[in-house]
Amino acid sequence: MLNKTVAELAKGLESGEFSSTELTQEYLTQIKSEDSKYNSFISVTEDHALAQAKAADESRAAGNTTPLTGVPIAVKDIFCTQGIKTSCGSKMLDNFEAPYESTVTEKLNAAGTVMLGKTNLDEFAMGSSCESSYYGPTKNPWALEKVPGGSSGGSAAAIAAGLAPAAIGTDTGGSIRQPASFCGITGLKPTYGRVSRWGMIAYGSSLDQGGPMTQTAEDAALVLNAMAGFDSKDSTSLDKEVPDYTAKLSEPLKGLRIGVPKEFYSEGLNSDIAATTQSAIKEIEKLGAVVKEISLPRTELSIPAYYIIAPAEASTNLSRFDGVKFGHRCEDPVDLYDMYTRTRAEGFGDEVKRRIMIGTYALSAGYYDAYYRKAQQLRRLIKDDYVKAFEEVDVIMGPTAPSLPWTIGAKENDPVSMYLEDIYTLSVNLAGLPGMSIPCGMVDGMPVGLQVIGNYFDESLLLNIGHQFQQATDWHTKRPA
Ligand code: GLN
Repeated sequence: MLNKTVAELAKGLESGEFSSTELTQEYLTQIKSEDSKYNSFISVTEDHALAQAKAADESRAAGNTTPLTGVPIAVKDIFCTQGIKTSCGSKMLDNFEAPYESTVTEKLNAAGTVMLGKTNLDEFAMGSSCESSYYGPTKNPWALEKVPGGSSGGSAAAIAAGLAPAAIGTDTGGSIRQPASFCGITGLKPTYGRVSRWGMIAYGSSLDQGGPMTQTAEDAALVLNAMAGFDSKDSTSLDKEVPDYTAKLSEPLKGLRIGVPKEFYSEGLNSDIAATTQSAIKEIEKLGAVVKEISLPRTELSIPAYYIIAPAEASTNLSRFDGVKFGHRCEDPVDLYDMYTRTRAEGFGDEVKRRIMIGTYALSAGYYDAYYRKAQQLRRLIKDDYVKAFEEVDVIMGPTAPSLPWTIGAKENDPVSMYLEDIYTLSVNLAGLPGMSIPCGMVDGMPVGLQVIGNYFDESLLLNIGHQFQQATDWHTKRPA
């Protein structure tokens, strides 16, 4: 049963080959025996999972099913799950049980999925390596000394290690796509506003978006079908009809116009990743697409713009963790000020503190115009570059990340070198566009991802391209030994 895709599991459940209870039990056993190697889960929700599996089997027996009824999934520990620990990878929330359910997990529950557990992440989703978690780093199943990418590294590693058939993640600046690339799986960040942010612990509210992390594009379509849709509880959710994302998977790619930004193939890109992604694009060309070089001239500026805007939003979002409302409170505070400062000093890790300080600085009187307003102006120009590009092409392709997964600890004392690793993903969030990473080759024994960026609400097209590529190649079927 393990190592089957969601689509295959759905068939097996449907035909009665196995029950959701048997399947869930199998995954729980696997997690228990194997996850000590990877540290991909923060919590394994065994009782909850078995209860959901039983309910799924009962509703199937009653003839009441959805395409995902009884399918196990893993959930990034940034989504609030009622009565279940929701830590966001932080000591601050180590003792926090969410009093309500996020819209995304509520929708997945309604679709009959079974939550196996909550996966590891960089603390408050700040990072590109899953190393800053209070619960220790997640290891890349392809090479245990390497990072799995981040921040949704636990979700990506769990799938690559065969501990979950699918997972959900969040992406503020690449946190679904980059770990998908590093672990050899498929990850989709939807258009901003497509998936509700309600109950997803906020990092950069104007950038955050939840999405599926799966073995195949077909599976991503199935999971996105259950996640997407308008939510009146999220003021930036878009009231736009949700198509069936599986409907266009099989359409031919004839005539598809692909733009390859020359800025995605410049200095700083590992030459083997360049060659691997270029040959994947050639493969898609063979399926009938036409490729043309384009320019996204402000690509480089996405790093300074993002690393002002995201910390600025984080500094305000994280002000709610003050020892009063949620989670950790320091021992024996002498007064209110002492409680705030000691609680925050104890509860947050170094990277989170760094972001809060940068963000608070950038928003303070006198610096707001110089940093925050400038960054917002850049953001607009970055978006304009994409809008212009999409007048000429249907999708944009290039590498997801410039480097292979690095050794755990290698960038510990150099945060800026980690920020630079986000060069190809940040602009997609700044512009609010959908982006996907699919496995497209191997370099030095590690998987490499191809990033496909679409126009607003073109998730169906991205998934169609992913599926066609996966019909023609087998990179998505490769698993660590
Ligand atoms: N690596 C980026 C950051 O640290 C993006 C993280 C994310 O998408 N959550 O902010």
